[in-house]
Amino acid sequence: MGHIILENVKKRFGEVTVIPPLDLEINDGEFVVFVGPSGCGKSTLLRLIAGLEDVTGGRIIIDGKDATSVPPARRGLAMVFQSYALYPHMSVRKNIAFPLRMARLERAEIDRRVKAAAEVLNLTDYLDRRPGQLSGGQRQRVAIGRAIVREPAAFLFDEPLSNLDAALRVGMRLEISELHKRLETTMIYVTHDQVEAMTMADKIVVLRAGNIEQVGSPLELYRNPRNLFVAGFIGSPK
Ligand code: ADP
Ligand code: MG
Repeated sequence: MGHIILENVKKRFGEVTVIPPLDLEINDGEFVVFVGPSGCGKSTLLRLIAGLEDVTGGRIIIDGKDATSVPPARRGLAMVFQSYALYPHMSVRKNIAFPLRMARLERAEIDRRVKAAAEVLNLTDYLDRRPGQLSGGQRQRVAIGRAIVREPAAFLFDEPLSNLDAALRVGMRLEISELHKRLETTMIYVTHDQVEAMTMADKIVVLRAGNIEQVGSPLELYRNPRNLFVAGFIGSPK
């Protein structure tokens, strides 16, 4: 579970091609980071995988099945939004349970999953609070909890830490890496932050104007950048 193949995937907005035909394979359990400058198509690519945008061409295969025209809710993936997407008037428990209530799961099953997610995320003592009564890091964990309870084949993160302060960002980065180790679930993580890419990824996908410039482990990219763009972006030895 969590094996994703992009085959000849293209995206145009009107006349503008944002993603030229592109191939990519993401393996089960991998932590993959899409990195590249602002406007290069990272979010678009993630949204195509999530099904929040339709492809202009090509196919998306998830766990062996053609998911290209499958609606987002049925792809078995969970997008993690920034913590400000929480419902301020609902308790932590209700925020985390929300996607399961929408999916009409049984109450006992909802309670079981919320409890398990809260334990993993150290939120057990905060379930009855509202988001406004939590720290920034705790709020981000609630946003992740809302994804975990869906038991997805893969987690999709779009710059989840970009509105946290620097110190908190480092802590959350470690927490997400730790979570990946524990869950062993595929994670696709979008960032324009080279340090996040280098420290979190099993595999980095470097994007430039919708093109994949290079794919490789942090060490491979660091040692053998294919071109100056990759070298400059990843950070060459100083
Ligand atoms: P990134 O996440 O790397 O900053 P995006 O994927 O958000 O980049 O955007 C890539 C390009 O696609 C940008 O030029 C952006 O303006 C354009 N774009 C994104 N979404 C839309 C849309 N819904 N309609 C038209 N253009 C879009
Ligand atoms: Mg973006």
